[in-house]
Amino acid sequence: MSLDAIKELLGPGGYIDDPQDMGPYVSEPRGRWPGTTQLIARPNSVEDVSAIVKICQGSQIPIVPQGGNTGLAGGNTPLGDEIVVSLSRLNTIREVDAAGFSMTVDAGCILADIQEQANDANRLFPLSLAAEGSCQIGGNLSTNAGGVHVLRYGSARDLVLGLEVVLPDGRIWNGLRKLRKDNTGYDLKQLFLGAEGTLGIITGAVLKLFPKPRQKVVALVGLRELESVVALLSLAQESHGEVLNAFELIPRLAIDFVTTHLPDCTDPLATQHAWYALIELATADDNTPLTPVLENLLAKAIDLQLVEDGVIAQNEAQAANIWRLREEISDIQKHEGGSIKHDVSVPVQMIPAFITEASQAVEQAIPGIRPVPFGHIGDGNIHFNLTQPKGAATAPYLDQWEAINEIVHDIVARYDGSFSAEHGIGRAKVDELRKYKSPLELELMANLKNSLDPNNIMNPGRILSEDDL
Ligand SMILES: Cc1cc2nc3c(=O)[nH]c(=O)nc-3n(C[C@H](O)[C@H](O)[C@H](O)COP(=O)(O)OP(=O)(O)OC[C@H]3O[C@@H](n4cnc5c(N)ncnc54)[C@H](O)[C@@H]3O)c2cc1C
Repeated sequence: MSLDAIKELLGPGGYIDDPQDMGPYVSEPRGRWPGTTQLIARPNSVEDVSAIVKICQGSQIPIVPQGGNTGLAGGNTPLGDEIVVSLSRLNTIREVDAAGFSMTVDAGCILADIQEQANDANRLFPLSLAAEGSCQIGGNLSTNAGGVHVLRYGSARDLVLGLEVVLPDGRIWNGLRKLRKDNTGYDLKQLFLGAEGTLGIITGAVLKLFPKPRQKVVALVGLRELESVVALLSLAQESHGEVLNAFELIPRLAIDFVTTHLPDCTDPLATQHAWYALIELATADDNTPLTPVLENLLAKAIDLQLVEDGVIAQNEAQAANIWRLREEISDIQKHEGGSIKHDVSVPVQMIPAFITEASQAVEQAIPGIRPVPFGHIGDGNIHFNLTQPKGAATAPYLDQWEAINEIVHDIVARYDGSFSAEHGIGRAKVDELRKYKSPLELELMANLKNSLDPNNIMNPGRILSEDDL
């Protein structure tokens, strides 16, 4: 009955109720949490989102808010009883305020479209991740997405000035302020950033813009030891922190995987190295050439015997080839069989010790396992992905996913790290949250959830389990 009310509200084209047409809304990138639902609501106004939530609240129908459905923690697909509220038709750029370095957008705007509109206004919106062609800003803010430029600009949370949210009772909170300073009590927008749709549906946001870079240089360097990678990062930060745009770690095995399985992707260095760092510098200043700055940094690093060899991209095609080596790592692993994933962070100085210890521990558990630790090392964030041993059967290997996760996450906890650096909790890590957060933190989280969503209709079972509430 209530579902009929939603259909009537939205009219034909505003919803999907035929399971044949639901594919992209009920499957997700890793294929781990296939879903089902009776209804996918596709509102095209904030008022309709509000009306849907009011109907659902009245009938206790649980809701999964959905953006681009690229999330990697299983929070984005429905479990059967839940309806999906897709934000994809709420996709208008409401205003670009170039002079004020801000932009106001609907939650369903695709991240790449936002970047493009900012660029057209001679500005930069710096959030950047491999899923940017399909993820939506509402999803990015709800997962507090990271990506490759956190080192310089912060994560999604740091890029927001104001928010508009439909609360679990259907009321619309208009917090779309452009203020850089506003110390008027609790910062309510922070509640919804990273909440993965469990406290309300983000419908709009005021985003921060930055000066558009006019120069960008990219280098790939080879190093013998992880300690040298961390020392090079420190050197780059202390000498050129204001232009350091990205600093990514790549292990040799990842270069082998990418160059083997993507034949048009080549190793830019003539010799092989145990570890690689991708360094990107960028600046809005077009008077001071950036390439000599990077050359000086690398020369210094070679003098200090941190770097064995390196190459600076001479043109955009070479820069793209270097970035491709990094961006294809996660996807390309499937050509080598199963991959057990981790998205962890530890204090940056602890990275060498963590990778060494965690690699030894998983090798002990599964002899022949192939660790491929890569990622945003500048933020202490390692995607500690583990490819199956050569020739092993994939299904039994993947059956050990949780046991291996536990080994790795226990080590992360000892290093005062995080078992979810940027992908969130969703359904995937609810148990880990219970294990690694303190009782007081869990209690405060449950209090927040209970006070905003006492009937637990917003993305139930994600982040907190029913037992926690
Ligand atoms: C190839 C690839 C690369 C990736 N790289 C990165 C990376 O570098 N860094 C990173 O952090 N993540 C990365 N991700 C994960 C993913 O892209 C991000 O989590 C992204 O921010 C999710 O956006 P989305 O619109 O797809 O959200 P969805 O997947 O649709 O939803 C994610 C969560 O947010 C909730 N949600 C979505 N929209 C709203 C809304 N409007 N209001 C309230 N809740 C909402 C959902 O309920 C769900 O819990 C990657 C994913 C892929 C497939």
